[in-house]
Amino acid sequence: MVHDVIVVGAGFAGLSAALVLRDGGLDVLVLEARDRVGGRVEALTNALGERYDSGGQFLCEDMPKVMALAKRHAKTLVQTPVDGTITLRPEMSEEDGQALWDANVAIRDRLNAIDPADPAVRDLSVWDWLQRQPDDVHAKSAFRSTVEGLWCQPIDAIPVWYLIDNDRRITNEVSELQYFLGETMHAVAEDLAAALGDRIRLSMAVRQVRHGGNGVTVATAEGSFQARHLIIAAPPVVANRIAFSPPLPETLAKALGAWRSGTVIKMRIRYAHAFWRDRGRNGMVLWRDIHGLFVCDTSRDDAHPTLVVFAGGPLALRFRAMGDADLRAEVLDLLAAALGPQILEPLDLVMRDWTDDPWSGGGYSDIVADLSAHDAENLLRVGAPPVHFACSELSPSFPGYVEGAIISGRIVGEAVLETFDQPVGLDRLG
Ligand SMILES: Cc1cc2nc3c(=O)[nH]c(=O)nc-3n(C[C@H](O)[C@H](O)[C@H](O)COP(=O)(O)OP(=O)(O)OC[C@H]3O[C@@H](n4cnc5c(N)ncnc54)[C@H](O)[C@@H]3O)c2cc1C
Repeated sequence: MVHDVIVVGAGFAGLSAALVLRDGGLDVLVLEARDRVGGRVEALTNALGERYDSGGQFLCEDMPKVMALAKRHAKTLVQTPVDGTITLRPEMSEEDGQALWDANVAIRDRLNAIDPADPAVRDLSVWDWLQRQPDDVHAKSAFRSTVEGLWCQPIDAIPVWYLIDNDRRITNEVSELQYFLGETMHAVAEDLAAALGDRIRLSMAVRQVRHGGNGVTVATAEGSFQARHLIIAAPPVVANRIAFSPPLPETLAKALGAWRSGTVIKMRIRYAHAFWRDRGRNGMVLWRDIHGLFVCDTSRDDAHPTLVVFAGGPLALRFRAMGDADLRAEVLDLLAAALGPQILEPLDLVMRDWTDDPWSGGGYSDIVADLSAHDAENLLRVGAPPVHFACSELSPSFPGYVEGAIISGRIVGEAVLETFDQPVGLDRLG
């Protein structure tokens, strides 16, 4: 049997592309390596029996596609608790904290005002650029923490032109942490998958793709599948592990190899009581001397006091090397110094290490890490038809977010759908 389109990956990009194709009347098959859908959006259950997002979780009013999906699937928007003061480590006065925050924002605004095509930043990493700035050491340290926490990479691995171009596409004015979903973000992925029914096949890792002018043959351990078009809806680093026969055109292969996965560990800690609120704190903690560490309150109501801890970039690798028990002790000690000794008595603490995840490569997303790969994104967007690429990283809006994954999947789904306006004889399929 020859399908119209095979989609590799049932993350938000793959599910969104497949739904566009199904709605367009095409025969689509989704092959997913894991035994679940959702990709970097995942839900686990803790020892208290609570289902929670161990991957992508937050959304905000400025992300229209994911907000619309949450509403359409009748999910509960929970406002992330923010009442109270932010805790700054090492401690500093509120005025000094505000001044440091303003200096950090000023660096980010100055960076984003640069044209990413400016030859002056062509060969620079973010670190190279930051070294040349006039700001004081504390402002630079706070900026580094922001970059390593959000992009989950060492600051010297990120091309400055890439960061500018990427950050300019993240256009929310309200906090990206504005809401999370009571039923989990993963429940939305499950709803999308339910709409696709048996068009999705789980535990089907695609290892090899044969492609030509007339279609593709996709090999998994369970057998081969044929289609006229293929959408690889996986992050570039894991997409690059698929063997293509014949090899992809040289420029495209180079573009696919230019990416590097972010490293992140997400922890969720449940308490009996939100004791930080008793001291007027909102649970958010920012460290300027530990780059890439961030904590916020994600209690869905007063009965479920919860903190979520993110460790991103080189810090995640350092944490990972400590081993489970030492890492728990280290994180609790850091939090106790920030929010008080009650931190040391959680009801439950769970960790999800996304560094080196076999099917995501890492998180939150991949970045272009080759200083010379200026065209990597555009080349992947063009692909090598009948082979196409979709993923959050390639989105014109909100790359690296669930919103971006939905947008990228829909764009590629629509582009492939259009090619079916001129039917090709199936007998020509090789
Ligand atoms: C810890 C963490 C926290 C995050 N927090 C947020 C957040 O709060 N808000 C937000 O908007 N975003 C967040 N993100 C980012 C967001 O989750 C991702 O941008 C988005 O989910 C990516 O979707 P995608 O479909 O592009 O890729 P993925 O979700 O990675 O989907 C790709 C799919 O392809 C499958 N696959 C890969 N290779 C193969 C193969 N060879 N064969 C078959 N299948 C394959 C994978 O198993 C996966 O299911 C977070 C990410 C992480 C890791």
